[in-house]
Amino acid sequence: FACDKCRTAWENSVMHDFEDSGDSPLELSPLDELKAKLRGDVVCDTDSAEVYNDAKLIWNGDWEIVNAPKMVVHARGVTDIQNTIAYAKAAGLELAVRCGGHSLKGLSTNDGGLVLDLGKYMKAVRIDNKTERVWFQGGCLVKDVDMETVPFGYATVLGAVGNAGTGGLVSGGGYGYFSRKYGLSVDNVLEIELVTADGTYLTCSENENSDLFWACRGGQSNFGVITAFTMQLFRCPTEIYGGLVLYDMDDAEIVLDAFQQFALDPDCPREASTHIYSLTLSEEQKLLSVQVCYLGDPEEGKQAYAKFLGAATCVDDQTKVTTYQQYQVFSDEVYRIKGIPSYWRSRNMKPNIKLPIRDLIDVINASPAEGILVLEHFGGRIMELEPSSTAYRHRDQDFVITFTGFGFQNGESRDAVKKWIDESTDKLLPACSGGSYLNYDSGAAEASFGENLPRLRQIKKKYDPENFFTCNINILPEE
Ligand SMILES: Cc1cc2nc3c(=O)[nH]c(=O)nc-3n(C[C@H](O)[C@H](O)[C@H](O)COP(=O)(O)OP(=O)(O)OC[C@H]3O[C@@H](n4cnc5c(N)ncnc54)[C@H](O)[C@@H]3O)c2cc1C
Repeated sequence: FACDKCRTAWENSVMHDFEDSGDSPLELSPLDELKAKLRGDVVCDTDSAEVYNDAKLIWNGDWEIVNAPKMVVHARGVTDIQNTIAYAKAAGLELAVRCGGHSLKGLSTNDGGLVLDLGKYMKAVRIDNKTERVWFQGGCLVKDVDMETVPFGYATVLGAVGNAGTGGLVSGGGYGYFSRKYGLSVDNVLEIELVTADGTYLTCSENENSDLFWACRGGQSNFGVITAFTMQLFRCPTEIYGGLVLYDMDDAEIVLDAFQQFALDPDCPREASTHIYSLTLSEEQKLLSVQVCYLGDPEEGKQAYAKFLGAATCVDDQTKVTTYQQYQVFSDEVYRIKGIPSYWRSRNMKPNIKLPIRDLIDVINASPAEGILVLEHFGGRIMELEPSSTAYRHRDQDFVITFTGFGFQNGESRDAVKKWIDESTDKLLPACSGGSYLNYDSGAAEASFGENLPRLRQIKKKYDPENFFTCNINILPEE
């Protein structure tokens, strides 16, 4: 206080309030105490519907995902996260961690719990050209990182869509256009900073808390709230070759066969990343869309793809020489809007298996208007690493199939989508391995982590013995 007079005035006013209310002015509710400690914000289900709905918005608007948290905390840093964990524990609230909110299964929200969001404020990115590393906070979207690295001529392995969050994408595997050349995101993480269930702030790497480092690379949010990643950078070409080539379904057999020959050729360039989609213009009119991306000299890319793409006469060829960032924006446009209902299932195909081309065509032909079949070419560097090198173990598949129902509007069309996906999964079962790409699906822990599960359960027991972090493919602590 500047002088004794000021002190007396303040004491009198406090005593006055105290006497009037019959309550201590320092006795705050636990929630008010949390708010007082935070640099970030809290939005509760008692706030205006507009503010609350905006704060809890996630990418998948499927009404079967119950997105009704009691509150959302937008954290600004490590201490906000520590205080929020302490509050959620004391209040007995389930805690869901959220970055981009792109979980296809709604794993970043809950019913009546607390959503801890890093995506609003924790988006700092710093690149170090000397060591060729990028450090970024656990609330960054893929494009936040790309926008800071690509202009300097660098990139790291992140997803194929700029709007997806890195928090879920990297901790769950991370497949992108660079994966065939450099591996999954988890294979390029050098250091992770996180807050564990008891509020401890830790750094982990190959040399420090290496058990936790191993577990966090595939174990999603089971081990803590990841506040920052450090990842390896590599040179990103200034120009790339890519785009869509559309074919009539009558040519699907020829195109899929050409794709298979291209993808399974041992000399298939690792710069080439290929996705096949079914496109439904109307229930009667469907197209097969080949999305190509060559992250190297564009002329080499054109040549590498020429035989495959020329196997049949296309309806439309939209490929061009472009930049990596512009290429990603193209995918972003398709998936930009949050809140559209969708339903997803993913299956890894068995290793060294030929594509069941006839069955794939039947599945596409049977799809409802909202149904999309996606076939992605994995392989390359992903396959060279041991399944136990990180917690993410699915490394032996050349292809991943994903079934999606996107944009259904009512229960009837949702049921039709689900029926199509159930029947398609059964039909393609003989060609599938039983595993799935973890970022697209959320099966049981046994199928998801397989032989890595016992070690993951030991590490869970060490860092989260009470299984506080449950909004994920949950790993139970070892008994
Ligand atoms: C349009 C679209 C495109 C996609 N493209 C790709 C792709 O190209 N490649 C690919 O691999 N995947 C892709 N995915 C899947 C995506 O990787 C997963 O949905 C991923 O979970 C999204 O991460 P997020 O941070 O946005 O998710 P959120 O919904 O925020 O979180 C998902 C899970 O991760 C946990 N989590 C999030 N942030 C943190 C954190 N900081 N610390 C600890 N745990 C955290 C959450 O608790 C939750 O369990 C795509 C998804 C969509 C919707």
